[in-house]
Amino acid sequence: MKPVVVVGGGIVGACVAYQVARAGVPVTVIFRDGGVTPLSFAWIGTGPPWPGGASDLSGFILTDWLALASSVPGVDVRWSGDDGAVDPVAVTRALLRAARGLGARTVSGASVSAVRDGLVSSSAGQLPASTVVVAAGTGTTGLCPSVAVPASPAFRLRVRAPRGLVPGIVATEHFDVREASPGLLLATAPLGADRSPAGLRTLAGQTTDRLRAAFGGGPRLPGGELRLLDWAVGQRPMPPGGPVIGWVSPGVYVAVMHSAICLAPVAARLIAEEIVTGRPSPALAACHSRPV
Ligand SMILES: Cc1cc2nc3c(=O)[nH]c(=O)nc-3n(C[C@H](O)[C@H](O)[C@H](O)COP(=O)(O)OP(=O)(O)OC[C@H]3O[C@@H](n4cnc5c(N)ncnc54)[C@H](O)[C@@H]3O)c2cc1C
Repeated sequence: MKPVVVVGGGIVGACVAYQVARAGVPVTVIFRDGGVTPLSFAWIGTGPPWPGGASDLSGFILTDWLALASSVPGVDVRWSGDDGAVDPVAVTRALLRAARGLGARTVSGASVSAVRDGLVSSSAGQLPASTVVVAAGTGTTGLCPSVAVPASPAFRLRVRAPRGLVPGIVATEHFDVREASPGLLLATAPLGADRSPAGLRTLAGQTTDRLRAAFGGGPRLPGGELRLLDWAVGQRPMPPGGPVIGWVSPGVYVAVMHSAICLAPVAARLIAEEIVTGRPSPALAACHSRPV
């Protein structure tokens, strides 16, 4: 039996691979690198805006994350009221590991050059496929030219801080921040017009100053001063008008969405159902009807 081949090893590809494997269907995941997922703030929130078909999925976000956390070792959600947060790298790895445990094959460090009905062409060779699922984030358009996936840049910084300084997830006009692990803050800040290396360094410094002003932090606190560690810009796949999920040509299925940390578990559960049963999912109808 030819496997389902999932192109993409970010949060979407990992969730889809896990759910397909869990349904007892052979699956191969192929990807070049971790994509933008490792740079995510990885906040699992349920508040709007949820454009297009995302609004039909948003009500399932928490229950699908709870289900994954209770069934997949290594999927740990830090809850803060109704919101949660994850380590996106650890969770993606845990899902791929769980998929492998169910018989999936992973091919990492490989570039896919073309997909078509029944076949994926890649630097690791030709992979026969019963279905190809393109979960390639901003790389989706390169493989499926009819699917427009603009990349939207977002800024993330990491700051060393006294343990426990920031309670839960704090969202303000100038930054969102949370403690990712004891003594390590993850923060985002709106990008300004100056995106040069010097401009980004300034934004990182300003945001660290704002964190100091908001939370204190200094030699008198155990653990000492807030210290900027590093910063990066990640390119988020952001299809205009909401998730694009569904068949784009015979044998080729696309799964690309914004706020994929939130949406990937529910989307992947429904995607696997559609692919395995052949029956369209009503909850994905608005994602299918997105113009591509
Ligand atoms: C700073 C920042 C903060 C964010 N905060 C949040 C948040 O709080 N909550 C939230 O829900 N979302 C957030 N996001 C968005 C979220 O991170 C993304 O929606 C999500 O990571 C996208 O996952 P993905 O699997 O679709 O894409 P990716 O993680 O980019 O994965 C794409 C995969 O496809 C592979 N690929 C692509 N093209 C090819 C090819 N030709 N050949 C082989 N492999 C290929 C890549 O190697 C990669 O494995 C944030 C993003 C950023 C940058």
